[in-house]
Amino acid sequence: MDELAVAMKARDFIAQCGPSALPVSVDSYAAKIGGVVKAEVLGENEDAWSVKLPTGKYRICVNCAQNGRRQRFSVCHEVAHVVLEITADHSAPSWSFARRPPGEIACDVFAAELLLPYKLFKPRVDASDMGLKAIGELADEFDASLISTASRFATFSRELCGFVLSEGGRVRYCARSTSLRDARAWVKAGTALPTDSLSARLREGAVPTGPEEAEPDQWFEDWDRDGSLYEDARHFSQWDQTLTLLWFDEEDLRPQTVDRRQWEEETQGLRELDGNLPWPGKSKRRP
Ligand SMILES: [Zn+2]
Repeated sequence: MDELAVAMKARDFIAQCGPSALPVSVDSYAAKIGGVVKAEVLGENEDAWSVKLPTGKYRICVNCAQNGRRQRFSVCHEVAHVVLEITADHSAPSWSFARRPPGEIACDVFAAELLLPYKLFKPRVDASDMGLKAIGELADEFDASLISTASRFATFSRELCGFVLSEGGRVRYCARSTSLRDARAWVKAGTALPTDSLSARLREGAVPTGPEEAEPDQWFEDWDRDGSLYEDARHFSQWDQTLTLLWFDEEDLRPQTVDRRQWEEETQGLRELDGNLPWPGKSKRRP
């Protein structure tokens, strides 16, 4: 099952539950599959597990030691296992994209759709300012993690915008807006954070400041176009993860014609899922 199929299943599921208020109720999602959520003491790196009871209902246990947003995501992730009929493989830590099995990533994609439903999220992205401060406010509104929110923000943005997640100072994953992909801006997985970039400096212990201007050819492969690039970043030393938001301020990089793909994105919100979610191997290929 590819990411588009996963996203479609998630949107079908959401349509059946009909969340309209924010933040969405993950208990309602659980109830839809006959699941009851319990917060319990689990292993240190264990997010959640679920089991089908003889009654046909599900018992979903989330780790009470983790923060509420992590627990909400975990509930959605466990719902995904049931709806997608994917057997859990929770041997690798969930915070590491590097070691995440494909089935688990599929459930993460489904969970992100549930927590940040397209119909509710997209209008807010369109109305939002650029930068991680504004994205943090959206994360608060949806009661979702900054990573999930920033990734979907970049994916759905109308601007030339990308979100880069790095682990250990190396790029793991990049989500790009449709217009950034059309501009052929590509951040290669595995590359080191650009020296002296805001992201690299934060990782080395600098105090976060606001967004600043960045060098496009340091971030993007084979980049030889004009345009002012801006960078905003946060670093979480606990996991050695760096979150980077990149965006251009130049209208002239924007595609001038509305083609079928853009039309589909505007009307159905599907196109932006093509090839920019954290899918194994895909990040290593050029579009
Ligand atoms: Zn799982």
